[in-house]
Formats: sequence, C-alpha cells, structure tokens
Amino acid sequence: MTLAHRGVLFCDELGEFAPATLDALRQPLEEGTIRIARQTGTVTFPARFLLVACSNPCPCGRDARRCRCSDSARFRYERRLSDPLLDRFDLRLRVEPPDAHVGAGDDTATTAGRVLAAVEAQTRRYSGLPWSRNGDVPAGALDDAVPMEGDLLATWRALCERRRLNGRGAAAIRRVARTLADLEGDSAVGPAHLLRAADLREPWS
Ligand SMILES: [Zn+2]
Repeated sequence: MTLAHRGVLFCDELGEFAPATLDALRQPLEEGTIRIARQTGTVTFPARFLLVACSNPCPCGRDARRCRCSDSARFRYERRLSDPLLDRFDLRLRVEPPDAHVGAGDDTATTAGRVLAAVEAQTRRYSGLPWSRNGDVPAGALDDAVPMEGDLLATWRALCERRRLNGRGAAAIRRVARTLADLEGDSAVGPAHLLRAADLREPWS
C-alpha cells in the first residue's frame, strides 16, 4: 500500500484475498497512512492511493448463463467482501461482457483533456483550502462544494431515502456528482449528476 502512495493500487480478483488482508485495507483507505507495529516500536508510512479492484461474481468466473456454481457458493463468495470494505468504494459497477455492436468510446487524448479540465476546475474551486480535489472534501465542507437547494435538495432527499444511504455513502455520492459536473464543464451540480453518481455506486448484492 505504501508503494502505491500517490498512485493506483489495483487488486485483481479481490474476492480471492484473505479476509485479514482485506481488513488491512480499511484503515489506510480512511487515514492515508499505514501503521506497522513491531516489538521495537511503531512506524507510520504514507499510503494515500487510489484503490481499484475487480472481482468475479462467483468462484467459477463464467458469465451468468454458463455459471455452474450453487446459490450457496455464490452467496459465500459475495459475502467475502464485507460491507464496511465495499462502503469505501465510491464507484461500484457490475460489468457485463462487451456488446459487439457497441463501438469504442472517446479516444484517450479526448478523455485526458476532459480530465485535465476537471482537475483545473477543482484546483480553482478549492484554492486556499487544505484540499484540492472533490474526493478529499471533508463531509463538513460539502455544503460549500455542493450546495443543496430546490430541485437538487428534493432529489437528494428522495435518493437518500430510497437507497437508505449512510453518511459515508451519501457524502461519496455528492463528491462524485461534483466530479461528473466538472467533467461536463458545468459550474453547478444538477439532479441528473446526483442520480448518475448514485447509479455508479451500485448496491453490491
Ligand atoms: Zn460460477
């Protein structure tokens, strides 16, 4: 985790990791540091990374039509990823096999340009503050970054109720909505951004 500091930590087949290893991800994800305690003392290393992970829905990893796993095996496999860990993923998507009829999306240069513009918008917005990215805005400062009123507030309340969001999930969706608006060059977050952000945080099971 500390080797991935200021970079990306990609965990392939997260469902195959030992429970103790998965548990060890939680504290660094929260605090951006990792503490290692030994007899001679405790050392703290930096560990602020972007966690990307993928997992099959079942042990065999085939698509739903060809899967031969029992319901109980699928259930056990899904439960390996605990709710507190899954809660720390801002984006959770079920990926289907690619459809042959759907063409490629934007090219890399176009996407990179959009990302750069979104980063610059965030740097300007948070100028003079201790954070410079939407993902780092503390929950207490979200009302300034994503003010809620009118239609947006009504959408927000309905969404929180329908999805029974906890504080962490609700805050994550607001931050992602702010990023979606930045990627589209919109100065204000609208109801469509909120709903899209919620779609990108799919319930796990
Ligand atoms: Zn299977």
